[in-house]
Amino acid sequence: MDLKRHNNLARSREKENKRFLNSLRKTDARRVDEAFHKLHEQVFGETSCLLCANCCKTTSPIFYQNDIERLSRTFRMRPADFIEKFLRIDEDSDYVLQSVPCPFLDADNCCTVYEARPKACREYPHTNRKKMVRILDLTYKNTRVCPAVLEIVERLKNVSLH
Ligand code: SF4
Ligand code: SF4
Repeated sequence: MDLKRHNNLARSREKENKRFLNSLRKTDARRVDEAFHKLHEQVFGETSCLLCANCCKTTSPIFYQNDIERLSRTFRMRPADFIEKFLRIDEDSDYVLQSVPCPFLDADNCCTVYEARPKACREYPHTNRKKMVRILDLTYKNTRVCPAVLEIVERLKNVSLH
């Protein structure tokens, strides 16, 4: 995966993608979901996350209480100690990683806590969610992080949604 190329491409399409995703707010939400979900399957069928891991390298998932408890058990730590060692509270008052890349990512781009990973990691990059029109800002942000999301958005531009 050529992440430098992805970065350049995402940056050069910034304005266009923001405008395009904003325009979907006026479109039928069910058709937007259908198109996203179809392209999600298509693009992830062609994508190897193990050759990328850019999400784990550059952004933090949100850690909900259940995630913290599950991961603490995995490490046989008290939740308070897990929080102190790995997490901080961000500007939205959510628990996130103290630093990226994620400390649970190994040198082969594998998640060492895969079975216990946070819900947000399981659901990333959220392009198969219901009501995609509600997360268009997040999807735009993810075009900057995830090559698959950028590709989904590119292909979506060629789908007739009206
Ligand atoms: S950034 Fe996207 S393509 Fe890369 S590993 Fe994460 S989900 Fe997969
Ligand atoms: S917990 Fe695993 S999947 Fe989630 S960011 Fe860290 S390495 Fe990636």
